[in-house]
Amino acid sequence: MEIIDTSRNYIFTDGSHIPVGTMYCIGRNYAAHAREMGAEVPSAPLVFLKPPAAYLPDGHSIRIPSISQNMHHELEMVVVIGKDGADIPVVNALDYVAGYAVGIDFTLRDIQAIAKQKGEPWAVAKGFVGSAPISKVVPAHEVSNSNDISLQLIVNQQVRQIGTTSMMERTVEELIAYLSSIFSLRRGDCIFTGTPKGVSQVKSGDCITCTLEDFTTLSVTIQ
Ligand code: MG
Repeated sequence: MEIIDTSRNYIFTDGSHIPVGTMYCIGRNYAAHAREMGAEVPSAPLVFLKPPAAYLPDGHSIRIPSISQNMHHELEMVVVIGKDGADIPVVNALDYVAGYAVGIDFTLRDIQAIAKQKGEPWAVAKGFVGSAPISKVVPAHEVSNSNDISLQLIVNQQVRQIGTTSMMERTVEELIAYLSSIFSLRRGDCIFTGTPKGVSQVKSGDCITCTLEDFTTLSVTIQ
């Protein structure tokens, strides 16, 4: 029997798996969230990275790093890339998608605010260990339109974020085309597609549940 190290692999709902690669994250891809952060939707996609060690499988817990007093949830649809590509045209972009998941872009908002103020990178605020929980991945062929999927985040039975990917400023296809033209994309990379409005602080003991329509769910507890 094959042993799968779930700490390093996306697990698909059909039981298959792919090792986790680079995580590309898109900032301000929903206008209402850009506004709640006091910002505008940027003219080109705002991109930052999380390392593979940020990945946290479904059903695990995360500790708030001691350097922060204000960790926020950001609910996001995650696109998992299934094959290598560069300069991928928009019309072919979906051929490169292995599947879709729901994830949380955990963010140390106080650390990020200082970085923004000083013009420094967001790597610490966004890329710490466990900062990227991702649900089981739904194979792409089971999803008819990834640009019209509802997503929801609940903390201790209270709905904090509701959105639909139809509100994204840039579509899945556009993000794949853009990222592949800059970085190239590899099998196992993923894209956090941005968060709708409603980000807020999480505290020790909180139980978080995220859903991607009725495709897949993600449970995370805060230690
Ligand atoms: Mg985000």
